[in-house]
Amino acid sequence: MAEPKHTVGFIGLGTMGREMAANLLRAGHAVRAYDVVPAAVDALAAQGAVPAASVAEAAEGADIVVTMLPDTPQVEEVVYGSAGGPGGLLAAPPRGRLVVDMSTIAPQAVRRMHTDLSAAGIDLLDAPVSGGPQGARAATLTIMAGGARPAFDRALPVLRGMGTTITHVGDSGAGQTVKLCNQLICGINLQAICEALALGRACGVDLDQMREVLLGGSAASWMLDRLGPAMISGDAGAGFRIDLMLKDLRLVQELAFGKAVPLPATALVTSQYLDARAHGEAGNGNQALFRVYDRMSGQAVPSSGG
Ligand code: NAD
Repeated sequence: MAEPKHTVGFIGLGTMGREMAANLLRAGHAVRAYDVVPAAVDALAAQGAVPAASVAEAAEGADIVVTMLPDTPQVEEVVYGSAGGPGGLLAAPPRGRLVVDMSTIAPQAVRRMHTDLSAAGIDLLDAPVSGGPQGARAATLTIMAGGARPAFDRALPVLRGMGTTITHVGDSGAGQTVKLCNQLICGINLQAICEALALGRACGVDLDQMREVLLGGSAASWMLDRLGPAMISGDAGAGFRIDLMLKDLRLVQELAFGKAVPLPATALVTSQYLDARAHGEAGNGNQALFRVYDRMSGQAVPSSGG
């Protein structure tokens, strides 16, 4: 049976959001698109979305609003409205009274917004994603959702337009908790790959061949598969930005501190990401962590990338 089609207000049309919103259009949903950057709205309107000039306009007449924003403060601004500025989703909810935040933000903030929106009869799901821009483009994202089960069931037809592995993982905030555990693994895994490549290079092995071999064994990983080629060629350019990864590692540690869970490996890799940022890599892809290893091992720093 064909999935029911919805009107989706989509807020945040950056690296991930623009691909996800385009996939919703391709899946036959109507999209009302908003971003603080007008050019991002225009680009999606050219693909068939209705351009919106504000959060309220994006929500108007929508069954569901999806947000894909950088960090907690931006999601709070969209929900509560900006001080002295236009109102947010709390004041102007979609007619379906369902909001799905797919950004990676603090679980504690999610629960606060969930409480406030619930009091106004509006459902909130936290449904962060994994899979990067490639997964966003291919509509194969892994989506981990927290919130009420009936709200999850209502959101499913829309989520299926953006991802393939879609799981309800618990109450409000649980999606973000799982996502932060995912990020912890990604950061430490990337660090391990940097170390292996630095050692392999110093020993003179063919790194492309080494990556191929390792992908067939127990060291295989998504990071080695997808980011390995850029790391080996020295391409620090686009992808999941260093500044966003640092934001995620900060959220991981705030969560862990609140629960008194020591995360020594996360603390170490965070220092290396800070080193990368201090050396001007904030806007580069996550894989630019390899430049920290270039410096530490005295290897020539590749010149490609930002
Ligand atoms: P991005 O910075 O490329 O996009 C964010 C968009 O939100 C921008 O277009 C920005 O103009 C817009 N925006 C900011 N504040 C706004 C506001 N108040 N109202 C409306 N629009 C606003 O970020 P991204 O890479 O698309 O990531 C979005 C989220 O998804 C982040 O939380 C990130 O951690 C997470 N994420 C990213 C990736 C990735 O590979 N890029 C993968 C998984 C999860």
